[in-house]
Amino acid sequence: MKLQEHQSKRIFARYGVPVPEGGVATTPQEAREIAARLGKPVVVKAQVLVGGRGKAGGIKLAETPEEGGAIAAQILGMDVRGLPVRSVLVEEAADIASEIYLGVVVDRAARRPVMMASSEGGIEIEEVARRTPERIIKVPVDPFLGLRDYQVREMAYGIGLEYDLMPGFVKVARGLYTAFVECDASLAEINPLVVTGDGALLAVDAKVLLDDNALFRHPDLAGMRDLHEDTPAEREARSYDISYVQLDGTIGCMVNGAGLAMATMDLTKLYGGAPANFLDIGGGAKADTVAAALRLILSDKNVKAVLFNIFGGITRCDEVARGILAALEGVETDVPMIARLVGTNEQEGRRLLAEAKMITAVTLEEAAQKAVAAASACGGRT
Ligand code: GDP
Ligand code: MN
Repeated sequence: MKLQEHQSKRIFARYGVPVPEGGVATTPQEAREIAARLGKPVVVKAQVLVGGRGKAGGIKLAETPEEGGAIAAQILGMDVRGLPVRSVLVEEAADIASEIYLGVVVDRAARRPVMMASSEGGIEIEEVARRTPERIIKVPVDPFLGLRDYQVREMAYGIGLEYDLMPGFVKVARGLYTAFVECDASLAEINPLVVTGDGALLAVDAKVLLDDNALFRHPDLAGMRDLHEDTPAEREARSYDISYVQLDGTIGCMVNGAGLAMATMDLTKLYGGAPANFLDIGGGAKADTVAAALRLILSDKNVKAVLFNIFGGITRCDEVARGILAALEGVETDVPMIARLVGTNEQEGRRLLAEAKMITAVTLEEAAQKAVAAASACGGRT
């Protein structure tokens, strides 16, 4: 789950990271009032869950409250990289002398958090990694020991930080690391961490990604979810406890088990197709869940064929077949459907589907090939 910049900043502030003063506005009037209360030049920032807002025109400076209101009106009316702006953050404009990057991510290969610092702040870190990888100082953090002072010094020296900024940098790095750990984040990033004209550090941007699997431990953070982050289909999926990620191919996939779903997607690719989604209906899915999943898949207009790959262990194949048939009763569709059901009650499941004129398959290879053929026969992009 992604947090908005203002939410991320509020979290960082609780951990002692200095952030600019400001507030969130959903109308130009509110923006003007915040600017008036601050009583100094402000920056108006689109709150959308995407990076590169600056370049896309979603961040602008204003000298007066009136100008702040006018700029807010403009930004609130625009799309930033395809996302409509529903609110803006209005905060005191920073006097920027230089920009640093500081972030923590989970490094799966190293099985620990890695903190990264770079003197090349203000641009996307992926860009720095491509162009000047030597400018990124990485410190792997032992989760049992935590971030050590020598590691913070290593980053500070590595990015050529002025000596006077050292105490502030230690505070920011510790705060960021602790916020990352205590929120169960998968990413916590300050880009840019600014050195101001009067020689202080200030987090001008903030980004937090939370691990969805730990959200149950953080009801307060879970409540921050921006429902606009997901497509309507993804929201619907969450209400049925289905793992669903929309993609841009033409073959809708319904699978039980995340690993099997990945393998199914790989095979459709291997045979020249492209999956329209990742979908895991989970173990023991009942007919109504299957029906909901099928409605979800068919709500994507790019879908030219649906591939069911069900391994019936806890989930019974006849139960799945009945779910598919129940869902089909409720939807008008001529999208071809290919089913591979293997496991508990598979004969019964296949018989039910064959009666309903669905294409059945025994092996996954066969099912994937039939799905690719069906999708391309429909003239779709595969
Ligand atoms: P992003 O483009 O979505 O990453 O948004 P950021 O908040 O990182 O802002 C992008 C860039 O805009 C920063 O790197 C700064 O150069 C500039 N910027 C942001 N806030 C301020 C500010 O308060 N004052 C000034 N002068 N520049 C700012
Ligand atoms: Mn940024």
